[in-house]
Amino acid sequence: MNESDDSTMSQHPMNATSPDGVDCDEAVHALYHYLDGELTDERRAVISLHLDQCAPCGSAAHFESELRRIVADQCTDRVPQSLIERVAAAINEEERHGN
Ligand SMILES: [Zn+2]
Repeated sequence: MNESDDSTMSQHPMNATSPDGVDCDEAVHALYHYLDGELTDERRAVISLHLDQCAPCGSAAHFESELRRIVADQCTDRVPQSLIERVAAAINEEERHGN
């Protein structure tokens, strides 16, 4: 029985809690709702502030929004046949490994 009193604190040494009470885990979870515009203005402001102050979360948000923009472009336009085939092949490969 090891009675270490800071075991929960030391699991995520990189996570910093901002004065607003949003940590990186929370910001990343909220990121999808943030990008989907599903947050209240107040919540949005809090997450936005964290993304501004936290470089890893900020770049994750930037990456995710860029990715969405590209995917949206591809979907409204047309997905290249070569990409569809590559994805289909990858899925087939996965299923074969599963069985
Ligand atoms: Zn963060």
